[in-house]
Amino acid sequence: MVVLTTGGTIACTHDAAGALVPTVSGPQLVASVRERVPAGVTLDVRQVAELDSSSMTLAETDAVLAAVAEALAGDAAGVVVTHGTDSMEETAVAVDAFLADARPVVLTGAMRPFDDPDPDGPANLADAVTAAADPANRSRGAFISFGGELIAARGAYKRHTEAAAGFATNAPAGAPRPAALAPAPLAGVDVRTVAAYPGAPRVLIDAAVADGARGVVVEGMGAGNVGTDLAAGITDAVGRGVAVVLTTRVPAGPVAGVYGGAGGAATLFAAGVLSSGFFRAGQARILLAVALATGTDPAVLLAP
Ligand code: ASP
Repeated sequence: MVVLTTGGTIACTHDAAGALVPTVSGPQLVASVRERVPAGVTLDVRQVAELDSSSMTLAETDAVLAAVAEALAGDAAGVVVTHGTDSMEETAVAVDAFLADARPVVLTGAMRPFDDPDPDGPANLADAVTAAADPANRSRGAFISFGGELIAARGAYKRHTEAAAGFATNAPAGAPRPAALAPAPLAGVDVRTVAAYPGAPRVLIDAAVADGARGVVVEGMGAGNVGTDLAAGITDAVGRGVAVVLTTRVPAGPVAGVYGGAGGAATLFAAGVLSSGFFRAGQARILLAVALATGTDPAVLLAP
């Protein structure tokens, strides 16, 4: 089993001021769980990064993707990636999009730091190794293992800022997984997220387009609706060839084109905006970047 480490709370300790910073090396992290993993499973630890996942860029995502591919080029039974929880859902869905191998890739992390009197990282890491070694999880893509739950990458999201069971999914049961894509670098693929709060001005999207964005994910209200001014900016962006995906700020349920009017999702879809389906902004942005990087129709990744 290859364990790739990238930082996050699971690798954090308190500094002199009491703030959390990632300081624990990959080998130290793995040493804390060696006796908890299933008998016969050996752990080959490789440190990819040591950062807070909110600092990750698509260049770091590419580094994780490359490390996963390198690990799977060998005879590892599976791959575990330790990762900060803030952007774990993004990295998980990126890994899933390119994962052609049957062997599972399981991301995990922690809500409480390495030096906490009761850290959750060791149990999460042991669970992730167990899941990645389980033949029942082959050919099912990437997962997040967290707080005793194993969640498919597509649709997973961080649901709580502090709870140990920090992740949930918006994916309906049995949601299909699109075919894996050939590797392509994501760094430099400029996809932005714009929040469509009531009264949001169109300059939010105009500025993104003027600044070179090739894709924009709009986080609408309700089932996916935006105000009149922003809708005009969205329509103009689509007319200029920018890929626009509509999602929602509502935690659960699909995006649906049921409302008309200037900013209703039905109107936006008719103008060429794409639905994020069950994906929320974080994963929709990554899937749109993957689509642009690989020349894939975004709808294939968002609603296969
Ligand atoms: N800020 C941390 C990170 O994402 C949070 C965590 O790991 O739980 O790296």
